[in-house]
Amino acid sequence: MTNFYRESAKEVMNILNVSSDGLNDSEVKKRREKNGFNELQEGAKKSAVQIFFEQFKDLLVIILIAAAVISMFLGNSESALVIFAVIILNAILGTVQHIKAEKSLNSLKALSAPIARVLRNGEKIEIPSREVVIGDILYLEAGDFISADGRIIENYSIQVNESSLTGESESVLKTTDVIDGDNVAIGDRKNMVFSGSLVTYGRAVMVVTEIGMNTELGKVASLLESTKEKKTPLQISLDQFGKKLAAVILVISAIIFALNMYRGYAVIDSFMFAVALAVAAIPEALSSIVTIVLALGTQKMAGENAVIRKLQAVESLGSVSVICSDKTGTLTQNKMTVKNAYVYGKIFNSTDLNTDKALEKDLLLMSLLCSDAISSGEKEIGDPTEIALTNLGKLYNLNEIEVRESYPRLGELPFDSDRKLMSTVNNIDGKNLMLTKGALDVLLNRTIKIRTSEGVRDLTSDDKVKIEKINKEFSQNGLRVLAFVYKEIDENKVIGLEDENDLIFLGLISMMDPPREESAKAVSDCIQSGIRPVMITGDHKITASAIAKQIGILRDGDQAVEGHELDKLSDEELKEMVSKVSVYARVSPEHKIRIVRAWQERGNVVAMTGDGVNDAPALKQADIGIAMGITGTEVAKDAASMVLTDDNFATIVKSVSNGRNIYNNIKNSIKFLLSGNTAGILSVLYTSLAALPIPFAPVHLLFINLLTDSLPAIALGLEPHKKSVMNERPRDINSPILTKEFGNSILVEGLIIAAATMSAFHIGLKTGDHMLASTMAFATLSLARLFHGFNCRSKESLFKIGVFSNRYAWIAFGLGLVFLNSVLFFEPLRGIFEVSSLTLNQLGTIYGLAFVPTLVIQAYKAGRSKFKRVSRTNNTIVSENAV
Ligand code: ATP
Repeated sequence: MTNFYRESAKEVMNILNVSSDGLNDSEVKKRREKNGFNELQEGAKKSAVQIFFEQFKDLLVIILIAAAVISMFLGNSESALVIFAVIILNAILGTVQHIKAEKSLNSLKALSAPIARVLRNGEKIEIPSREVVIGDILYLEAGDFISADGRIIENYSIQVNESSLTGESESVLKTTDVIDGDNVAIGDRKNMVFSGSLVTYGRAVMVVTEIGMNTELGKVASLLESTKEKKTPLQISLDQFGKKLAAVILVISAIIFALNMYRGYAVIDSFMFAVALAVAAIPEALSSIVTIVLALGTQKMAGENAVIRKLQAVESLGSVSVICSDKTGTLTQNKMTVKNAYVYGKIFNSTDLNTDKALEKDLLLMSLLCSDAISSGEKEIGDPTEIALTNLGKLYNLNEIEVRESYPRLGELPFDSDRKLMSTVNNIDGKNLMLTKGALDVLLNRTIKIRTSEGVRDLTSDDKVKIEKINKEFSQNGLRVLAFVYKEIDENKVIGLEDENDLIFLGLISMMDPPREESAKAVSDCIQSGIRPVMITGDHKITASAIAKQIGILRDGDQAVEGHELDKLSDEELKEMVSKVSVYARVSPEHKIRIVRAWQERGNVVAMTGDGVNDAPALKQADIGIAMGITGTEVAKDAASMVLTDDNFATIVKSVSNGRNIYNNIKNSIKFLLSGNTAGILSVLYTSLAALPIPFAPVHLLFINLLTDSLPAIALGLEPHKKSVMNERPRDINSPILTKEFGNSILVEGLIIAAATMSAFHIGLKTGDHMLASTMAFATLSLARLFHGFNCRSKESLFKIGVFSNRYAWIAFGLGLVFLNSVLFFEPLRGIFEVSSLTLNQLGTIYGLAFVPTLVIQAYKAGRSKFKRVSRTNNTIVSENAV
């Protein structure tokens, strides 16, 4: 094996047979065929059979199995068979559901899979990391995860965190120099970079030497643990609820069993009673319904540019009460255009510069030399701030690539958002000049001279006042201002951060980045729904405030503060003032964490956006970390729970609305299932206490729970999203889903359905035919629950939300009717489901009684909303009178 660190960069390129244009397509194909894709083998995945058997672990299912086994021993093998059949059917459904949900999560993950910037066929392109092959030339920048092992061939102060391999948390400064020695430790191979490491600073170009399982990471990881999807808080609380329910069911069933034995019933009958109760109470479909609705919800959100990376986010989104958003690119378009330039004493429009004048020409040249963006190719590549500069050059026929070739770059200190500066060293007319561009407030204090049309002289305080005044003027119009300064440096000197001092001022360039059209509306939607939008930006305070005012974030009485002001505040003081501040300007990523914490300590659920490498801790700290899909670094995406594929603030607000709707829909499904089950329990309890015969065979209840109930439950999960959710306050994240109010309404609705069911049972019993009575009770319960699906669509009455606005509800209802009627009228099924034939009259009674609960519940809902309207009008009158 070649020790690439011992070879020069050129030699490595030779060994790997790579030209300076990178690999071409046919070479890539050949190498892919030889070495495969650049991916780590995943840990053994669970097979479908394993997943199938896992379905039987559920405590409630175990109770059912026990019931079936016991009834078999007691001689009721028909009943046992049906229970088994249904449990197996349920397990198959669960398995299919599980695999489907997993697939949909994987496809979401693929949407936010890491990318690599690579040189192929002489062109710089972006590809998914798994398509990288040995010999590819990769470009690395701060914030990248390195996708393969490789040798550095060009280095611009790159620093890499290799803690995943070496355990060393400090970043390592890399080099291109050859390293001697045979068994150099990984941490000392300073001219190599390794897969899975993270670029924390600077940039570099590397050539790939190993991929996939042959990388150092692949060797130690050998098998990547299959990533386990954590359960969401809702799923956990439902699991806990399931356990409690199981315990309660066991106790009540035991009491019913004892009671019936005491009354002198046969063991088998007493036991079947107890089993019926258990079966009625167990919401078999509950957990798979929640999983389906969550999976469908995330799919919908992905279609609307929000890719969920952690399932919990869907639930927490509905509780978000503060959104801290970056400005550039999220609230604004990130399409910068230069508006003005300023050189000694004069302001110009971007079109009015004169390249015959030295100052104006040098400012233009410098803006191209001290930038990396390219806009003369087919596509604009690079930072929008710099693209504005290269586009300015275009106006004056200055091609950035040619200019950069004429004055070669000898060194650089890349831009970073902490420093807010960037410097390059270029050879200009025989002198080595360090050119620096960046925020004026950072640079002015480090500037000691100014270049005027007469030459360079000391910078006076008058000059400073004037420059600051111009800066303010530009900023007040919402313009971003870059200052350009320079100084001569010694030949062969490698520049460091300490060199960005004692500078000579050349000029300012201002640029416009208009707000996105949809930002103002999204901000007002936020405010209306009780969510506080906050702008956090690296930009100047005046610029940020101007934009924030335009889009409605900065309102009368709100404050704008700068990062350095935060440094002076204790955490306690920040917590006090945080609610008054709408704009944070000139912040560094560390400030972001403090702001998130301060809001959280006030009891808020905070969403925070981020894109840079240093944003990762704040994204993790936030309740919902949101990374930018277009401009975000891999590190930020990795830390986030949601990725915006369009970088747009409005998408966040849309996601909150989706989160609220998904949560409501899940809640409605749960309500539907539990109230239906309550009706079953109450019916069995009633007959048991009233010493009536058993109203249902277990198979009846299983039929309802697993078949006719599942359909409306899914349809409720698919209820069209309502805009009105944004008129409500955010949901308290700590309030449990099963609140007292929720429990009460489940109980009341269950009671009404049970009353209808028992009425049918009594009517049937009058004929003296127990099987007929049981059939009528079963059919009424099943049908009433199908009707009840419509009640659970909303708190509002059906007429308010539109009877036909959820077509899935109708499909579910229709299918449910077909299933039920097949059992009632199809001879072979009648035997299996223990039902007797019905007369037209009895059928009419069943339909009529089953519809009654829906009539009552709808009438109540309509009445309540009318009452609310009236009381609201009265309140308005009262408050007007008070005025
Ligand atoms: P946010 O996205 O958080 O709203 P931002 O993108 O405006 O903030 P940064 O990119 O960190 O914030 O920029 C902060 C400041 O750094 C700018 O106001 C500008 O003065 C300076 N700056 C931005 N880009 C460059 C660059 N490419 N070179 C030099 N200075 C820059």
